[in-house]
Amino acid sequence: MTHITKTFYSVEDLVSHLKAHQPSFYFSSKTSTVIPYDKLDTLLPWSKGDFFLCDLSKMPPKMELKENGNLVLSGSVSWEDAKKFLRSKGRNLKTSPTEQLALITAGIATSCTGERCFGFGTMRSQVVSLKYLDFNGEEKILNREEEFVLPSEHLKQYQQDFKTYQTFKNAPYPRFNKAIDLMIGTEGQLGVVTEVEIETVENYDLTYVFLLLPKWEENIDAHMEIFNAVQSQRDAIMSCEILDSNCMNYLKADEKLGNNQDVIFLEVKSDRFEEIYGDILCHLKHINHDDVFEIAENKFHHIRAGVPRAIFEENSKMGVVKIGTDCQVSGEKFPDLLKFYREAAKVGVRYCLFGHFGDAHLHFNYMPTKDESARCLDQIQKLYDQVLEWKGSPFAEHGIGLLKQKYIKRFHGPHQLGLFHDLKQKYDPYHQFFPQGFMGKD
Ligand SMILES: Cc1cc2nc3c(=O)[nH]c(=O)nc-3n(C[C@H](O)[C@H](O)[C@H](O)COP(=O)(O)OP(=O)(O)OC[C@H]3O[C@@H](n4cnc5c(N)ncnc54)[C@H](O)[C@@H]3O)c2cc1C
Repeated sequence: MTHITKTFYSVEDLVSHLKAHQPSFYFSSKTSTVIPYDKLDTLLPWSKGDFFLCDLSKMPPKMELKENGNLVLSGSVSWEDAKKFLRSKGRNLKTSPTEQLALITAGIATSCTGERCFGFGTMRSQVVSLKYLDFNGEEKILNREEEFVLPSEHLKQYQQDFKTYQTFKNAPYPRFNKAIDLMIGTEGQLGVVTEVEIETVENYDLTYVFLLLPKWEENIDAHMEIFNAVQSQRDAIMSCEILDSNCMNYLKADEKLGNNQDVIFLEVKSDRFEEIYGDILCHLKHINHDDVFEIAENKFHHIRAGVPRAIFEENSKMGVVKIGTDCQVSGEKFPDLLKFYREAAKVGVRYCLFGHFGDAHLHFNYMPTKDESARCLDQIQKLYDQVLEWKGSPFAEHGIGLLKQKYIKRFHGPHQLGLFHDLKQKYDPYHQFFPQGFMGKD
């Protein structure tokens, strides 16, 4: 078996590759945290001849703002590119993943979400239509007005099961209610996404503030007070993020915030800021007024993205695969999740906690040495057992890829596996799309 990397510069190139039905893995910016790109040779095994690693990051980028404010884009357009383009036209994105260099077409494949999910909901709900290339290289158009149709005995029960998770950013399996869902969260296992139309929003002025809190390991009263207070303010507060005190070790001295304290950030519409300050922030019993500060937008993004990137780099340097979580639970179970992480923090391995606090969706990360990895993996397995019991979402944002397949199995029953099988039969009859993915090949 040989892995052959192929870079695509045009749709025509891509179409001719698809027509050859070669087994392939298509990738874009390679920022996925569940695909270890430096280990694909071993983690994408293929015993039947050549396997193609298909680079889509050089596909010609194109963006167009429609009169109704929707953005139509194709090719290599990152979140950063789209944000710049939209801001020059007085608009902004409704989805803002922490990693802005990822491509939007890939974000469809991973059902990407992000910080602004707190205010605007999931990206899934913002996709108006999309185009993809199927196994014959034919372009297909999907629309959110159309229902998802598949002649499968499993569909009805699958959709019924999904209802348990419909308030989460992503469930343990894709949605499959609307026609567009075929490409959303299916991680490139059914086709290649080439064009997307997404909703955008007016680019109103925003104010960024951060609040300093006691460490969550010692006391979560202040955390829960903020969590509860912001829930009814999603029309004014776009994002509610946390970096815990341990995260500060990954920042340069002049970037660190607080004094061994946790930090919660809020992105607030400027014209609603006084109201949020007067009605909410001023009345917090567990936070001192002097511990609320304004921060510049670029500094917020720099610090927020800097921490996960630094952890990612450190783990790569140490040769260990990242051991991090991506769980979202209901508000009711949020204190239980924090309590679980408090116990997990006691195993004696370096850790930190960050993420989308307002949505009860946190990334707890261990930074183990090679010898410590097994101990961390034990804890992680216990966490997934708990999440299953809590009816939470184990992987709410970063997807399943290769690294989470082992853990997702318990969340998939006969109707999920049956539907995946029927979808793969219909949309990937030659097993050419990421055959090692979570949907399996037969
Ligand atoms: C520091 C950091 C922060 C992050 N923050 C967030 C966050 O806030 N929210 C979030 O959702 N994710 C986040 N991620 C994860 C990652 O950025 C997303 O999963 C992103 O959508 C991946 O985009 P990419 O272009 O890098 O895709 P890749 O890593 O290149 O590919 C990811 C998956 O998508 C498939 N794929 C790629 N392009 C296509 C296509 N055109 N058609 C079909 N399938 C395709 C691939 O086969 C693969 O399965 C973060 C990652 C890092 C490193």
